[in-house]
Amino acid sequence: MSSAIINGKEIGQEIRNSVAERVARLKEQGLTPGLAVVLVGDNQASATYVRNKQKSCEAIGMYSELIKLAEETTQEELLAQIELLNNREDIHGILVQLPLPKHIDEDTVIATIDVEKDVDGFSPVSVGKMMLGQETFLPCTPFGVMKLLEYSGIDISGKHAVIVGRSHIVGKPMGQLLLQKDATVTYTHSRTPDLPSFTKQADLLIVAIGRAKFITKEHVKEGAVVIDVGMNRDENNKLCGDVNYSEVDGIASHITPVPGGVGPMTITMLLFNTVQAAENKLASKVKQ
Ligand code: NDP
Repeated sequence: MSSAIINGKEIGQEIRNSVAERVARLKEQGLTPGLAVVLVGDNQASATYVRNKQKSCEAIGMYSELIKLAEETTQEELLAQIELLNNREDIHGILVQLPLPKHIDEDTVIATIDVEKDVDGFSPVSVGKMMLGQETFLPCTPFGVMKLLEYSGIDISGKHAVIVGRSHIVGKPMGQLLLQKDATVTYTHSRTPDLPSFTKQADLLIVAIGRAKFITKEHVKEGAVVIDVGMNRDENNKLCGDVNYSEVDGIASHITPVPGGVGPMTITMLLFNTVQAAENKLASKVKQ
């Protein structure tokens, strides 16, 4: 029997519909949620991501503004731009598209974003708050995975979650969010010897490594839930995940496809965080 498909397109759309309703309610109160996207340089992939983010904002009635800066922009100029956005009343979320040109220090740039507008959840303060379980903006991809699990009715508490990959934007925060929902979490990475001996123990296997079809049937326990964060091109230049879907199909109880699994959730959660930032702003105005 085939594994049940966790449909990120459908779940993402359901969440976007509810975000659109929240946008409409804010607009009735005279506030249009606004997202600023800062793009430095001419990276084609980044330009495509940014376009998609802007289109998605507009589709649900949010304001979005692209700040496009030349490759030669200095770090000081970029920091000054972020300070301007930090102080703008009409901008509730700020996203700096990564990677930045090599002469700019990403950590310094991200740390300059006002934590109340850090809708990517990447700043050290946001990450610290997430670790402590405090209210903050959660990084969009792992947040999206949590929503996929929630909407699919998958229990996390007491389950053994194995994460493959330990990047700052996916693997590490993913483990923290699952830990907060009472999973027992194991992190694995490129220096983990005998990877299958770990992944085979997973009730919940989350893979974010960036290697096409790397996870095969020898890595997966019968009945495991498999979440594939990877986005790669296969030998025919077709989009594919880190999991060899056709091999794992039927072994896993549930699986996310690529495309149409985690991918649509990342932008969805960016919209979710931005509307939340705007609501927070309105609430703080009411208090004053
Ligand atoms: P990074 O390159 O930052 O991190 C990759 C991680 O995978 C590292 O921790 C690395 O280990 C680990 N790794 C690499 N090879 C192996 C291996 N053979 N065995 C075990 N672990 C390994 O990638 P990201 O986290 O940014 O992205 C991962 C994937 O997810 C990519 O395909 C990316 O395109 C995709 N992605 C998708 C998103 C979406 O919206 N769907 C959003 C973000 C990413 P080590 O630390 O030891 O080097």
